[in-house]
Amino acid sequence: MISFLDLKAINSTHRDELTAAFERVLNSGWYVLGKEVQAFEAEFAEYCGTKHAIGVSNGLDALHLILRAYGISDGDEVIVPSNTYIATWLAVTYAGATPVPAEPDATSYNLDASRLEALITPRTRAILAVHLYGQPADMDPILQIANKHNLLVIEDAAQAHGAKYKERKVGGLGHAAGFSFYPGKNLGALGDAGAITTNDTELAEKIRILLNYGSRIKYQNEVQGFNCRLDELQAAFLRVKLRYLDQETARRKQVAALYSEKLAGLIVPMVNDGFDPVWHLYVVRSNKRDELQKWLGERNIGTLVHYPIPPHLQPAYQSLGYKVGDFPIAESIHQEVLSLPMGPTLSDEDVLTVVDGCNAFFRA
Ligand SMILES: *Cc1c(COP(=O)(O)O)cnc(C)c1O
Repeated sequence: MISFLDLKAINSTHRDELTAAFERVLNSGWYVLGKEVQAFEAEFAEYCGTKHAIGVSNGLDALHLILRAYGISDGDEVIVPSNTYIATWLAVTYAGATPVPAEPDATSYNLDASRLEALITPRTRAILAVHLYGQPADMDPILQIANKHNLLVIEDAAQAHGAKYKERKVGGLGHAAGFSFYPGKNLGALGDAGAITTNDTELAEKIRILLNYGSRIKYQNEVQGFNCRLDELQAAFLRVKLRYLDQETARRKQVAALYSEKLAGLIVPMVNDGFDPVWHLYVVRSNKRDELQKWLGERNIGTLVHYPIPPHLQPAYQSLGYKVGDFPIAESIHQEVLSLPMGPTLSDEDVLTVVDGCNAFFRA
């Protein structure tokens, strides 16, 4: 059995250090907004090369707080990819604004900058670029268009911890970025967690107030805030796992390279010069996707589809009035993609078993 993602195996490699972190927090008697969160924020900011990192409750809250802190709300529009995890869109509607979908590039699956200008209206405030599957979006043309139209650029870096675009790490490429540390992400906590990175000191200050009931001084509330705090225990676990992130990413890269070398009969991920993805997911594409997934399942190989239904066709967004055919590139991606097992604990033998399973399907 090769599972899609073996979280128990990944976290077991750090068992002693995670247990020590747990004991340290337990014994401290201090569980929310303390030394562990502060230390993790400093370490994560250094890792991303940004002035600030702010620990928050999860990735959705990270993106939502960025939009709120920039004052994006009712009547504002935010350009989002038509193919992304729904949380990207949810952050926009949570803030009260309207997501305006942009079709992706059909080969990178990320925003296609050449389609953005046609979507800009007087109400557009921001472009929310997603580094999907751990592959950075092509940020320079996006930033150029944003500059020209005076728009904010926000990164959804929930799948891309440590990915680089032209030698620069994600998280510092736009005005602010949201990260998720959901257990299955490349840097995963043992529960929900997230962070915001930015070089904008004023924004960071606003976010710190918003995430803690709108308060800077206890029982004094400057604005109507939220409770989106990161807790000490998750911060302590994340500090352990951050130290191993680059090592784990290096293994993901080896796994991806082996897949790309050996797979035949389907479309493998494309990586252009200047892009350094971190392989949150290894996503192949085939018009026989469903049959392939079933075939691999019968051979005890776990796969998933990221994602089966695009946001514009979800019942949750019925009110936006989209229908099948409105975003054909996103729709065909959703019909054809399959994520193969990926993670730092996969052995070469595991990878070759998956490859044999796939290649046998196309020979059959
Ligand atoms: C996981 C994810 C999120 C949301 O993160 P949570 O921590 O689960 O709230 C947002 N965007 C993308 C692209 C994600 O993959």
